[in-house]
Amino acid sequence: MAEVSTPYQTQTYYALALDPIHVGSGEMQIGRVDNVIVRDTANGLPKIPATSLAGAARTYTAMHYPDKYRRPVEDSEGRVGYASCADQTGPTGDRDGACGHFDCPVCITYGFIQPGGRTSPSMVQMFDAFPLFFPVPSMLGPVWTTAPERLQALLQDGALKEGDLNIRLRPEHGYRLQTALPRKRLNLGWLLLPVAISEAPLTSQGHARLREAGVPEDILSRLVLVPDDLFTQVVNDNLEVRTSTAINRTTGASLHGALFTYEAIPRSTLFSFQAVYKNPGDFLLDGQPLPHDIEWVRTQVEKGLHYMEYLGVGGMNSRGMGRLRILNLGQ
Ligand SMILES: [Zn+2]
Repeated sequence: MAEVSTPYQTQTYYALALDPIHVGSGEMQIGRVDNVIVRDTANGLPKIPATSLAGAARTYTAMHYPDKYRRPVEDSEGRVGYASCADQTGPTGDRDGACGHFDCPVCITYGFIQPGGRTSPSMVQMFDAFPLFFPVPSMLGPVWTTAPERLQALLQDGALKEGDLNIRLRPEHGYRLQTALPRKRLNLGWLLLPVAISEAPLTSQGHARLREAGVPEDILSRLVLVPDDLFTQVVNDNLEVRTSTAINRTTGASLHGALFTYEAIPRSTLFSFQAVYKNPGDFLLDGQPLPHDIEWVRTQVEKGLHYMEYLGVGGMNSRGMGRLRILNLGQ
């Protein structure tokens, strides 16, 4: 009897912002801030879009294999140029640089298109990263806010189990908080709110599970559960807004009147996001099943994710933004 292979595997990752994270929406806004970040249209939360995560992961997996990142190729007239499996660019800058080899950890993992018609779909699908635990200043020092919807999403994704959550906050509580921190009232930034339930939003089992996944104890012991719609507001009210000066690239001097502001998700925000890994054995290339398994795909992607801690994700990297540490690689 033929062995039935698993068609896919899902993994929830937890990621800690080591710097402020700025993924620009590409829109300039007149008023509060010039360079705004991407927000989810459904829940209004700022996010790191899946495309940014997948793009950075592909580039960094390729950088891990220098011969795939910058591959010398010779054109028909004997000139040597470079091609890259990272962005599929060839020596002339056209998108014909994917090697498309059966063994390529970049092309096979992330998919490729070659002008000749050889194509292979991506073996990984990433989803948007949302703040799960978001830092806010309070009278007790920094606390990390979260919301019922965000925690329940982890349950649906299978990252948490029944019995991990202790969500006692109900709609009839209105704008009140649930936290084990010893206060009757707590301020979240400028907002002072009563504590309705003096219990942690995670059970000891849920706390232990996230601790095992690498979430720092400092965060887990300082959680504050707020209602879903208030969470969106608290997050948006506590983003970093920085002012910078545009520099004249020729003279290196600051341009007169070129002050601009940009917003970013603050350092020490803890994100969660999901990845789905497909089984290459279920896909054909040139009529042959791909000779790899899910674990191989996952290993290649995690090699790329690891570099986000050093090379970052999103924009404004030259201004000290973007480094993101994925906490539960290899688990
Ligand atoms: Zn390749």
